[in-house]
Amino acid sequence: MREALANANRFLHRKKEKEVEILDLKNLTFRGGVHPDGNKDLSNQAPITRAKEPALVSISMHQHTGAPCEPTVQVGDTVKIGQIIGNTEAFVSAPIHASISGTVKEITTITTPTGMKTKAVVIENDGREELGYIEMDRKLEDLSADELKKIVRDAGITGLGGASFPAHVKFAPPADKPIDSVIINGSECEPYLTADQLTMQTWPEKIIRALEAILKILGAPNGYIVIEDNKPEAIKAMQDAAAGHANIQVAALKTKYPQGDEKRVIDVVLNRQVPSGGLPMDVGAVVSNVSTAIAVHDAVYRNKPLYERVITLTGHALAEPKNLIVKMGTPLEELIEQAGGFRETPGKIISGGPMMGMAQPTLHTFTIKGMGGLLVLTEEEAKKPKTSNCINCARCVEACPVRLEPLQIERAVNALDFDRAEAYRPLDCIECGACSYTCPAKRPLVEAIRLAKYEIRAKMQKAR
Ligand code: SF4
Ligand code: SF4
Repeated sequence: MREALANANRFLHRKKEKEVEILDLKNLTFRGGVHPDGNKDLSNQAPITRAKEPALVSISMHQHTGAPCEPTVQVGDTVKIGQIIGNTEAFVSAPIHASISGTVKEITTITTPTGMKTKAVVIENDGREELGYIEMDRKLEDLSADELKKIVRDAGITGLGGASFPAHVKFAPPADKPIDSVIINGSECEPYLTADQLTMQTWPEKIIRALEAILKILGAPNGYIVIEDNKPEAIKAMQDAAAGHANIQVAALKTKYPQGDEKRVIDVVLNRQVPSGGLPMDVGAVVSNVSTAIAVHDAVYRNKPLYERVITLTGHALAEPKNLIVKMGTPLEELIEQAGGFRETPGKIISGGPMMGMAQPTLHTFTIKGMGGLLVLTEEEAKKPKTSNCINCARCVEACPVRLEPLQIERAVNALDFDRAEAYRPLDCIECGACSYTCPAKRPLVEAIRLAKYEIRAKMQKAR
């Protein structure tokens, strides 16, 4: 039934604009979700500009899912931009590159914006901006799928949408999991953040060329670019860039949080449901964020490793919200300065957006590959809501895109009954925060679910 509706809807709602078709999938949104204030207008008119070159960077050796890297340089070494400074033999990992040229001052331990303590290479800038790689002008037809995968690995590309999964691993599914669809995710459903939107408006052709490269790596016939319908300029830019590419379609999705979650995107675009505990490859799909696509483009066609990315600096307590190209390892204090400093006393500083971001206890930390935003809330916005008793309204259940029962998980956690909590499938939770957002009693549902996940995983580990 849903498939018939999907096909009919796609057929009826396809619009012709110039010669480029757009898939209008707004009526096929996922179940659940919420509508928080977007607050994107703070920064969505700010063109992408380059941040000032940092005087010093502290580059974490663990910026990805998988094994951490070990430094390949020593104190006193001279390094150049794009030179590998951390690596490992592990398959699920990604090398780390210098983002500035200069001298290695220290190899130390830092706490990253994710709260993880990691080894880091500290480099002092010599101001020369010397490149440690050769800029090239490569053509896709000259490269095999295996060569492309190696380029992606060597460039240290990880998912820049937040998960930081090494891209070369995602692009190497087992032979029994053929991929027929690659989706470039420009949904950017997280409030405040605009880096992906501006990236699509600034470099749409690069995204299309990156998608062509990923399709070649995976031998997949179909490419999609998906964008929420609150970004008409980005939709238009991608439509124009996709003209003449018969195998690539641009799809407009309903603006609803968490539309950008990859399983929701696959559900809406392909009408396929990733099974509990499964991955997109289980249903023949790979999803990559638009910023990841830019990194793939730069690596494949220009031989440029991943050492910088676009970050949105935003929030009502920040003087001049911006979208900046920032070198990895830049101190957060410097970014705040470059956005004009604080407009008023900040109440909370978050790496990422307000729904899934991480509150920062200090600004004495440094950017990493997975960080796409820095949000500064006012004291008023950051006030903790008063929690009251659950009134059994089931709004949290209705909002949950994964069809969980957050109130039941929280009750089991409060009773320290983690076996009962497990029966409500907390491991399937994507920690989108929609349940907490919608709860009229302001229950700390996500926090309870995180605790349940931690306890269940610890139990599984012990059993192993
Ligand atoms: S239970 Fe998890 S997936 Fe469901 S709404 Fe809450 S945070 Fe999102
Ligand atoms: S939304 Fe809040 S108050 Fe309503 S059932 Fe869920 S936990 Fe209880």
